[in-house]
Amino acid sequence: MRARPWVTGAGFLALVAVVVTISAFTFLDMHRDRPIYAGPGVTRVGKLSAYFPSLAGTGLDTDVYYLEGEAPGATVLVLGGTHPNEPGGFLAAVVLVENAVVQRGRLIVIPRANRSGFTCTDPGEGQPQVYHIPTPGGPREFTFGSRATNPVHQWPDPVVYVNRLGQQLTGSEVRNLNRSYPGSPTGYPTERLGHAIMELIRIEKPALSIDLHEASPEYPVINAIVAHPRALELAVKAAMFLELEGMDIAVEMSPATLRGLSHREWGDHTDTLALLLEAPNPSQGRLRGRTDTHLVLTGQDKFYTQAGTRNRLYVKFTERGWPLEERVGRHLQTLKVLIETYSAANRATPVVVAGFPGLVELRKNGIGAYLRPPS
Ligand SMILES: [Zn+2]
Repeated sequence: MRARPWVTGAGFLALVAVVVTISAFTFLDMHRDRPIYAGPGVTRVGKLSAYFPSLAGTGLDTDVYYLEGEAPGATVLVLGGTHPNEPGGFLAAVVLVENAVVQRGRLIVIPRANRSGFTCTDPGEGQPQVYHIPTPGGPREFTFGSRATNPVHQWPDPVVYVNRLGQQLTGSEVRNLNRSYPGSPTGYPTERLGHAIMELIRIEKPALSIDLHEASPEYPVINAIVAHPRALELAVKAAMFLELEGMDIAVEMSPATLRGLSHREWGDHTDTLALLLEAPNPSQGRLRGRTDTHLVLTGQDKFYTQAGTRNRLYVKFTERGWPLEERVGRHLQTLKVLIETYSAANRATPVVVAGFPGLVELRKNGIGAYLRPPS
């Protein structure tokens, strides 16, 4: 006699329908922007499409926060979320928006530079869709996101992506904002996004433009400032001040033959001093083990610890890992010193920003101490 199956065909189909429905709703929920609260220094919130109207109403338009001081000075542009799977860069921009107060000059912050990338995860990576940062008034939720534009907003990928400047890349890089500069008003959606950011730089004329990123621990450009040649002197001086404070950071010059990146094209196509900051993020690395919110928040991973003890990585890696507050703290400390170093050399047009924490404060109090409780 044949054994009775543990589930009938109809029952199995019903089970599949339930799982698919739940997955569909959690995936759709990633399209909801998790709130970023305008802090005491925000004087205006606008849209990137103000600089390139055809972006309006698309999944790539994004909020721009203006923090204007009462006294005149230069402008600093800060981008987080060029790569949404690099939470340290995104959260550093959020902490700026919610805390910084500008006394002289202006700060323009775009926390979700590739907003579309925050609405999906990368297939096959097993990364969480959301993570939570505890604050005194309850946890704040953020989406983890993908390295690139959501295929819902840009599809299909070509076999080879040829950037406007002739750089040839693998097809999926067509959705990578940091390969799409200087962009194009008629190109792929991600190139239009790159063009809109270039337009913002051309119109607002920031003296400094800083793109906040993170890198895998096995990637050589890490814990570093990557500088356009015109910004190299500023980067070296800032790195020396940071070393004196006890924070080690490398300086790399933007390669002249690698096209499409912010630190190269912003500097080549506008007058801004273009810089990109990297911090270590094990949750995007290839050696990582289980990829969950614990890894996102603590940066602790036994496989990276092993690799670290064998000197296989480009950063020190111990059981302590690379906690998110350390990475956000490094970004904010570097930003602070870059702005101070720029202002010391440009006394007629300084930028003075107060109210946001540096590395010491982040280590001591955590990120949640500098995020508004959820409303
Ligand atoms: Zn990146």
